[in-house]
Amino acid sequence: MNIIQCKICHKPFHSIGGNTCPDCMAKIDREYSTVRDYIYDNPNAKIDDVSKETGVEKAVILHLLKDGRLKLSSPDIGGALVCYICKKPISSGRMCEECKAKVALTMNKNIEGNKPPQPEQKDLKASKHTAKMHTDISRRG
Ligand SMILES: [Zn+2]
Ligand SMILES: [Zn+2]
Repeated sequence: MNIIQCKICHKPFHSIGGNTCPDCMAKIDREYSTVRDYIYDNPNAKIDDVSKETGVEKAVILHLLKDGRLKLSSPDIGGALVCYICKKPISSGRMCEECKAKVALTMNKNIEGNKPPQPEQKDLKASKHTAKMHTDISRRG
């Protein structure tokens, strides 16, 4: 049994993985198209306007934004949604584009860094230039 508090209505419920109760999940799905259509027609709307005009709770809209299902073109949503790395206001998801790019880079680097050290150098033909390095490596190994 995994009882957690619903992120939207704060009611405790039996979670099967999500953080919103079945009632709110159904509500979110129902209201999603309303909000999406409104944003489609008013791409520069602020979250307050969206909530006022559609009658959809801010918490629901925020949930959809965090999920990445909705995207407001204006990152100014009252500071409710910020990049979890640099705390810059963002309009959708959990990270700003810059941090997303940085994280992707770091991940690539880690993959490279995990390569085992290359011992082949030992077998390279020792030219005059690499002779010293050659000795260093054989002494160490
Ligand atoms: Zn709920
Ligand atoms: Zn960031």
